[in-house]
Amino acid sequence: MVTDTLQTDAWRIAAAVADPEVPVLTIEDLGVLRAVTVDGDVVRVDITPTYSGCPAMDTIRDDVILALTAAGYSQVEVRLVLSPAWTTDWMSDAGKQKLSQYGIAPPSGRSALSSGPIRLAISVRCPRCGSLDTREVSRFGSTSCKALFECRACLEPFDHFKVH
Ligand SMILES: [Zn+2]
Repeated sequence: MVTDTLQTDAWRIAAAVADPEVPVLTIEDLGVLRAVTVDGDVVRVDITPTYSGCPAMDTIRDDVILALTAAGYSQVEVRLVLSPAWTTDWMSDAGKQKLSQYGIAPPSGRSALSSGPIRLAISVRCPRCGSLDTREVSRFGSTSCKALFECRACLEPFDHFKVH
């Protein structure tokens, strides 16, 4: 089926768009990319915003349009799908691994949405030395999506991608 191939190609191109805040992650790794449909000359891409405070979505939308336009798709529509709301549970295991290698502690545990109203206190593992003896220094790290942590073992500060 020609349409299937087009759809797969369009997904592959959209899926390769990187998160502007953590460039090692693609929007597919993040779980932000929800659907890609090709309908005649029009490609529709559904993305779900991560944190409401993240200004990254505008950049992601522009990058998706640019990538698909550069690949020859003439009409690209990007829709923001707000429901169901994105949670860090949507992040792929490959994405979490990349985050860790990048020096950012990946979200650990399940989001509050899936585990009920009580958010468990979870130890965050230091991405540098692996110690669990870490503490939160600031709720907001380099961006609003991340918290700043400090490792008591190796004394290095690091970003933690907050569970959301
Ligand atoms: Zn450490």
